Amino acid sequence: MKTLSHWINATDYAGESPRRGPVFNPATGQQTAEVNFASVADVDAAVAAALAAWPAWSSSSLATRTGVLFRFRELLVQNADTLRDLIVSEHGKVASDAAGEVARGLDVVEFACGIAHLLKGEFSEGASTGVNVHSLRQSLGVVAGITPFNFPAMVPMWMFPIALAAGNTFVLKPSEKDPSCANFLAGLLRDAGLPAGVFNVVHGDRVAVERILEHPDIAAVSFVGSTAVARSIYETAAHYGKRVQALGGAKNHMVVLPDADLADAAEAAVSAGFGSAGERCMAASVLVAVGGCGDELVDLIRKRVDHLTVGPGTQSSSEMGPLITKEHRDKVASYLGIGEGEGATLAIDGRTHTIDGESEGFWLGPCLIDDVTPDMKVYTDEIFGPVLSVVRVNTLDDALGLIARNGYGNGAAIFTSDGAAAQRFETEVEAGMVGINVAIPVPVAYYSFGGWNDSLFGDLHVYGPDGVKFYTRTKAVTSRWRNIGSSQSSLSFPTTKSS
Ligand code: NAD
Repeated sequence: MKTLSHWINATDYAGESPRRGPVFNPATGQQTAEVNFASVADVDAAVAAALAAWPAWSSSSLATRTGVLFRFRELLVQNADTLRDLIVSEHGKVASDAAGEVARGLDVVEFACGIAHLLKGEFSEGASTGVNVHSLRQSLGVVAGITPFNFPAMVPMWMFPIALAAGNTFVLKPSEKDPSCANFLAGLLRDAGLPAGVFNVVHGDRVAVERILEHPDIAAVSFVGSTAVARSIYETAAHYGKRVQALGGAKNHMVVLPDADLADAAEAAVSAGFGSAGERCMAASVLVAVGGCGDELVDLIRKRVDHLTVGPGTQSSSEMGPLITKEHRDKVASYLGIGEGEGATLAIDGRTHTIDGESEGFWLGPCLIDDVTPDMKVYTDEIFGPVLSVVRVNTLDDALGLIARNGYGNGAAIFTSDGAAAQRFETEVEAGMVGINVAIPVPVAYYSFGGWNDSLFGDLHVYGPDGVKFYTRTKAVTSRWRNIGSSQSSLSFPTTKSS
């Protein structure tokens, strides 16, 4: 069986720890590999490599750094199918969805290729007589990324292209559930000419994460994962004096007004609720039917789900794949009983959906729970599976209030033909990313991605302009070259008005 190593100094690094974890193909239920789990010493080795590589990398020219990124971009395009297949084999999502993940990561790489423009500082001539002021954006040093299972290629690419382009060196701790994409990307970076030590991967669990958080040579941590872990990462990294952004879980509401094109909204709800088996932080997990449109929406969704093909991601007919592990599938399925026990109606039971795949796979078909109310666990918990809850409310006011009280604030969408209602929604809704007749409003790479409230701890969102800010620190320089030697000493505080 394949054993996956860490990646330090541009080569495989077995590490000193005997601890390992299993990697499964979720569509077959079979273990396909094991992955080394880093010890404290293994993390230290990765950080030492990154720290040693930082002075030369951060002082290399912008042209050198962007040259590597442009070559990496070409290699990513050439190897997109291989990366897609790697995602399918360890995550389970269908191939077209995995290809979309690669494309969204590529967008950030292309954004980072323009870093020369993005790192420009500001300049003020004549702030005082003969005095100019300018600002620099400089790298932080060694930065770390800790990433979730659900986008094993894209989420790391939300982080490292911008971090590296800005002159930082990087230690990535990907999810132990689907670790292979990280090593594949590391190999492409090496082939693109990235110097050894600039990008490193350590695999593992909380042992590795805790060492990253306390390591004195790591300047900043980007985390994406569940809210409970995000909150603790934020607190611990801040305690150790690090810059930190920690993106957490979600419960995204898709609001449908009665004036919407209901057939279009139902298609969007199926796509956003069940795509990637609901294992997306931007999945629609609550369908808010406003003003009596709930019955028609539920009927339309039922008709579409009846002929939705659930099967292995490698099969072109599959629209939805398995869940990541058996334990997670069982946990997600348990919410159907919980919902019924709380008084909700199980409108579609995914446990009975026909599966076009091997019986040992981690399957659960699309599930729809109707008549959900905000006090129920199926509403308050992030289920992270193909389970869509329907909450019925009377007015847009009710929908906005529901979202505001939910606690999470990642994405929210409205489906309507009323421009005024849409405008009000975008202004008032408590969420960081908003869709108007768009169910999965993941911002393009030249904006930034991030939620509000319990969906993000920290100040800056990930990638885009916020990513550049996160991975750089500014320095303001005040300079005077004329009249040197003519100053008369004064102990008063210098002002622009005094000279
Ligand atoms: P997770 O929180 O279990 O794991 C994320 C990372 O943290 C992994 O690398 C994991 O090894 C590590 N980790 C897990 N438990 C830890 C602990 N106790 N201490 C230290 N490290 C720990 O998340 P997941 O199950 O891999 O991913 C799904 C979650 O990620 C969902 O909640 C989803 O909403 C969220 N997510 C959020 C975004 C976003 O942008 N907000 C994007 C993708 C996924």
